[in-house]
Amino acid sequence: MRPNSLHAADLAHLVHQQTDLGAHEQEGAILIASGNGVRVTDTEGREYIEAMAGLWCASLGFSERRLAEAAYKQMLALPYYHTFFQKGHEPSVRLAEKLAAIAPEGLGHVLFQCSGSEANDAAIKLIWYYNNIRGKPQKKKLIGRVRGYHGNTVATASLSGQPHMQADFDLPLGDRFFHISNPNYYRFGQEGETEEQFSARMAEELEALIEREGADTIAALFAEPVQGGGGAITPPRGYFDLIQPILKRHDILLVADEVICGFGRTGNLWGSETYGMRPDMLVCAKQLTASYQPLSALLISDPIHAALMAGSRKHGSFGHGFTYGGHPVACAVGLETLAIYEERDILGHVRAVSPAFLEGLEALRDHPLVGDVRGVGLIAGVELVADKATKAPFPPAAKVGLLVQERCQAAGLIVRAIGDRIAFTPPLIITAEEIREMCGRFKAGLDAAWAELE
Ligand code: PLP
Repeated sequence: MRPNSLHAADLAHLVHQQTDLGAHEQEGAILIASGNGVRVTDTEGREYIEAMAGLWCASLGFSERRLAEAAYKQMLALPYYHTFFQKGHEPSVRLAEKLAAIAPEGLGHVLFQCSGSEANDAAIKLIWYYNNIRGKPQKKKLIGRVRGYHGNTVATASLSGQPHMQADFDLPLGDRFFHISNPNYYRFGQEGETEEQFSARMAEELEALIEREGADTIAALFAEPVQGGGGAITPPRGYFDLIQPILKRHDILLVADEVICGFGRTGNLWGSETYGMRPDMLVCAKQLTASYQPLSALLISDPIHAALMAGSRKHGSFGHGFTYGGHPVACAVGLETLAIYEERDILGHVRAVSPAFLEGLEALRDHPLVGDVRGVGLIAGVELVADKATKAPFPPAAKVGLLVQERCQAAGLIVRAIGDRIAFTPPLIITAEEIREMCGRFKAGLDAAWAELE
């Protein structure tokens, strides 16, 4: 590595997030310099198909000029203002109005934050506030799912079921966070158990937890329609149909974490629609601005909003807010993003190319490394196994997922290994031809990894 180079400065000064810092120290980083459609190019001139849309987020790819122009225009008109103290600005009002119009039924109030983590963290605070205001101060426990991911604040990392994001961070915090099993039917379904029976077992586990802890102590369940950070896990058949009546019966809220699924990822506007979820709160981010600006939104129902009103009367104000929450530039980009989705019928496009995407990956099921392929819309997970017949996994220390990720990179494809599951969430604008190219590069990566393992 050349002294004084960009890579040397990176090694010396930049703390990378969610990174194996030892490997980074040894190997350096891939620094991305530019983007064009679904492709990005690094500082060494290598081009990749970005099959993760960055972090499941760059829905319109990496070169949408209209979003840059919307940001520039807003910066000239009003580069900053907030929504504190009865003040506000048009982009935040118009975007809230738009979100309320397209939200699942009953979620007509919008609180803007900057990230998915912040919006989930705010959801936790609002749930506690709501239960205090409605006279249920004992009802505070929160349920997440093993391998669920809701963010990296102290509270959202506690709610997430990701042990490596908790270990040595002194998390999970306190005694308010509980987790039910990971709903990966392929990995955790028992011998002879149908998918529906597996869902019923998951629901029974939830019921048993509620019974053990007492329904009057449990406030909410947080669930991603499709688990992203867990490995792109689609829910087993009937899962949410069985879970929701249990929550209703025990007066437990359902929060849909749509940070990945929102805005078309599953082939419907909301993942909640795809899986028949009727959430009391919905969290969205990422594709809200195609990730050209940091913005998230927490959508809440009338009863929860009424509690905010009552709390504000009681305490003199609604005591929550961030300097950059609902930033005018981010909201202007959000409005332009949603306009592009409608004008270009992005939902129709996702539905049109989804079969090529799912079938293209499915065709690799015969590969000696591939145990399972599952997805919906433009999100999919491919599980690697040591033995296809028994589904036996590789030992974690073998880091086979990482090997495949690296060999894919060498073949010009960015994917994400989550343990031994390879996740795909390409930009929503990907074409059928680009999907074919993506699958070809994935096969090349799998073949290269297999050649080393054999
Ligand atoms: N929730 C889900 C489902 C996510 O996938 C993520 C991030 O990937 C988050 C929350 C956290 O969002 P952020 O990284 O914007 O804080």
